[in-house]
Amino acid sequence: MSITASTRALALFGDPVSHSMSPTIQNAAFTAAGVDGVYVAVRCASDDLHGFMRGLSKAGGGGNITLPHKEKAASVLDVASPAVRRTGACNTFWGDDDGQVHGDNTDVDGFQRALVSFVDGSPSGIRVLLLGAGGAARAALMGLLEEGAEEVIIFNRTGERARGVARRIGGEKTRVVPLLEELRSESFDLVVNATRLGLSESDPSPLDFDILHQVGGAIDFVYGRKPTPFVRAAEALGIRATDGAEMLVQQAAASFERWWGEPAPVDVMRAAMKESQPE
Ligand code: NAP
Repeated sequence: MSITASTRALALFGDPVSHSMSPTIQNAAFTAAGVDGVYVAVRCASDDLHGFMRGLSKAGGGGNITLPHKEKAASVLDVASPAVRRTGACNTFWGDDDGQVHGDNTDVDGFQRALVSFVDGSPSGIRVLLLGAGGAARAALMGLLEEGAEEVIIFNRTGERARGVARRIGGEKTRVVPLLEELRSESFDLVVNATRLGLSESDPSPLDFDILHQVGGAIDFVYGRKPTPFVRAAEALGIRATDGAEMLVQQAAASFERWWGEPAPVDVMRAAMKESQPE
């Protein structure tokens, strides 16, 4: 479909955005689904976010928000989804016929879809170790509790931040540990890395799996370089592990569905991401 004066504009706002795979994934999806839209990435300062989001929404467009603006984006919305209200973060927005700016946090949906596919069934009743306390960890915690996790133990480098996440989202099924050493010889059905360790090639794994007794599986939010340090460390001990690539595709698919009101061509999006992913 060619770009014309009636083409709907969708944009990713963040800083940096130059390495994002979202334009590749979304434009492949728009073409496959035959929807009249174009998706671009725009590097944007925090002070400019409000104007960009409101202006684009008023023009009938929308988009995504990435680091470091997801929390600020939540405050720009007129209509926030339950996931935005619970996590305090927005990664997807759009203007509706009502003239208002709507927003959702599809990282929650994306994580849940990737989780269900990874465990190949229901994650209900599982015991989880969650590493991190930023935006990704908040999405993971909400997703885990909604999917029926029995207990989620959170560890973060900055303990106070983990306690804040537990207070905001966790409830009685969540506990924060100040030191990983406290978990020595414990067993978990799943360990989730929601820290940014692994983004840089020289990063260590955020966890020495050796200190734990038994681990059923490991999911990394980090994606891009294969395998990530966390996935490598898990697999070295025979633990089944996956990086954040499927989650990225699934959150993109959920965003597509919010904008266009129809199912996303997930296979096309997955293939587009694989083609552009560095080895
Ligand atoms: P964030 O809000 O900046 O949080 C970063 C987290 O990493 C915090 O818990 C921070 O701990 C921890 N951390 C940073 N440097 C560390 C270090 N040297 N040692 C130990 N912990 C460290 O970022 P975010 O939005 O949560 O994103 C986290 C990761 O998830 C990023 O790699 C992002 O690309 C990825 N992500 C992937 C998807 C996907 O779809 N696959 C979606 C969202 C995010 P402190 O609190 O102590 O600083």
